[in-house]
Amino acid sequence: MPNRSDSPSPANPGPDLRTVTPREITQAGDRLSITWADGEQSLFDVRELRLACGCASCVDEWTGEYRLDADSVPQDVHPIQIDSVGRYAIQIRWSDGHDTGIYPFDRLRAMPTSAAPKGDPSDTIADPSD
Ligand SMILES: [Zn+2]
Repeated sequence: MPNRSDSPSPANPGPDLRTVTPREITQAGDRLSITWADGEQSLFDVRELRLACGCASCVDEWTGEYRLDADSVPQDVHPIQIDSVGRYAIQIRWSDGHDTGIYPFDRLRAMPTSAAPKGDPSDTIADPSD
């Protein structure tokens, strides 16, 4: 009886990403933290998020070629506004004026997160070069 559509289609294994929604989004300094509805947490470096923008200005929509010049993005770029887009994404308005980037939840969830919070640079910055 409870099985309405509990079995995912074979072509789409893994968790049903449509159900992966943020429960809470908080920004602290240069970190953006997303707590997902299932209790998982993702921590992003906000500039990395900016660089990961997949909008048509940053990525060629036909070739998929990355067009954003990382050097053009200020080191201190940060979200000034975060809006939800439907039930599947957030749109981030950035301090550098860029506001066309939409970040689908499933993409955010799949992105590598910055696990270690900053705060103790001497401990987190490892420079293997001598
Ligand atoms: Zn963009």
